[in-house]
Amino acid sequence: PVFLTIETTCDETAAALVTDQLEVLASVVASQDKLHQQYGGVVPEIASRAHVERILPVIHETVQRAGISLADIDAVAVAYTPGLAGSLLVGVTAAKTLALALGKPLIGINHLQAHIYACRMAAGRDVFPCVGLVISGGHTCLYRCRDPLDFELLGTTIDDAAGEAFDKVAVMLGLPYPGGPSIQKAAEKGDPHKYAFPRALLDDPNTLDFSFSGLKTAVRYAITGPGRHDPSQVKLSDQEVADLAASFQEAVVDCLVGKSFRALEITGFHRLCVGGGVAANKRLRTRLEEEAARRNVDLVIAPLKLCTDNAVMGAIAVEKWKAGVFDDLYLDAEPGVVRRSSALIHG
Ligand code: ATP
Ligand code: MG
Ligand code: FE
Repeated sequence: PVFLTIETTCDETAAALVTDQLEVLASVVASQDKLHQQYGGVVPEIASRAHVERILPVIHETVQRAGISLADIDAVAVAYTPGLAGSLLVGVTAAKTLALALGKPLIGINHLQAHIYACRMAAGRDVFPCVGLVISGGHTCLYRCRDPLDFELLGTTIDDAAGEAFDKVAVMLGLPYPGGPSIQKAAEKGDPHKYAFPRALLDDPNTLDFSFSGLKTAVRYAITGPGRHDPSQVKLSDQEVADLAASFQEAVVDCLVGKSFRALEITGFHRLCVGGGVAANKRLRTRLEEEAARRNVDLVIAPLKLCTDNAVMGAIAVEKWKAGVFDDLYLDAEPGVVRRSSALIHG
């Protein structure tokens, strides 16, 4: 069987064709980065309009590259939650329409779970059970993943997402969007210990939550001093930008690494899967690798092209299909917030 997977949760219009053996027949990602660049962040209305323009060409190109026809598709899967309402709606509507027209089953998938499933696709082997860390533009979530259909949220951000913090700090430093890659690049020549930025909640053993807004504010005041002026208007030397970027990045990485390994202790699991755009960060990857080697943890980090939004990770739909879990045409976009499925940490 062949699955068409559709992804339009944020600002990437993507489709892929995968088999029940998790073989990828084709994958197409149309990025909108250029459209949002001048605003320093994703503008929801622009994103949804761009999805409308791109969704059909992207699906057609995917089918063409796989050398099959729409009639060969056995199921249609779509990320229906969470994300931007207008963006999700485009993918969900396309998927429902195709499922109806082709008379094939529809499978709704959770975008954050798909980000973890990117690790399964990359590893080419079973990765469950594992602790899953999703770090992206809109989310920062730690999951206890017992199996591909059983994700329990252990911790999340109480304010900004990790990627959002990268993007906002990049604007303050006058670095181009998307902020993650620019901060990473600037940080290469910087001193990660130049500024003592806060690591909120890191030392609190009773929570696996994250908080990055205080860090963001600390960077702001490191740039402006006590003044209230716009940080992006402050003239900084290249070295200052590098040091600020490196110190900020180190603070984020400390929190992500610390809480992930704490989650491994709590769950007793020995595998950590990391997905989402921020997982592309080189410093984070190095630190995770060091820590995993030290603690004998099986670490799977999604490769760069599976970190940011794509439809290959939507192959998690195959797991639902195998379990007989389908949706009907009442499937709706659920922009939603991430809901914690359990009480915090016990013991
Ligand atoms: P979500 O998955 O929460 O809906 P999204 O789709 O916008 O959000 P992704 O496409 O997974 O998120 O990731 C985009 C984010 O990843 C951006 O915030 C970007 O700055 C960040 N990012 C990309 N590369 C890097 C990097 N090398 N270092 C740090 N952050 C990065
Ligand atoms: Mg994106
Ligand atoms: Fe994403």
